[in-house]
Amino acid sequence: MNERPILIIPCSGIGKPFGTIGRDATFRVVDELRKGRADTSCLSLLVMGDEEATEQIRESDCIAVDGCPLECARKNIEIAGGRIAAYFRVMDLLRDNRGLKPKQVTFLDDDGTRLAEMLAERIAVKVDELGGGGLD
Ligand code: SF4
Repeated sequence: MNERPILIIPCSGIGKPFGTIGRDATFRVVDELRKGRADTSCLSLLVMGDEEATEQIRESDCIAVDGCPLECARKNIEIAGGRIAAYFRVMDLLRDNRGLKPKQVTFLDDDGTRLAEMLAERIAVKVDELGGGGLD
């Protein structure tokens, strides 16, 4: 059993639905699907060099959730010295589900919600695969 905690970090993308979908999926995992088995952290704190956030990612197996190919979450986790245990991109999910076309940004519409649910399921499976030491 892996003893390292699991930290799911979504990008902070705004202006398009992709970032919103990644964040919504992350909250579905840490608040519902795998509550108590994975946590999340604020990417902006990491980018600003916050000591506590940096230490937390260095001690965890990190799952990056990015909206687009610019990969802000994955890159900043790596820059901060974190270990990427798994990686998801909302754009990849859209490619696999071309019939779904999310449009709303602030609140997810039906297609955005469906994509967030699918992404959350995939992340939850990865949390199971990684095991994880659980949260204190
Ligand atoms: S990965 Fe893409 S959507 Fe997410 S914050 Fe970066 S530019 Fe924005």
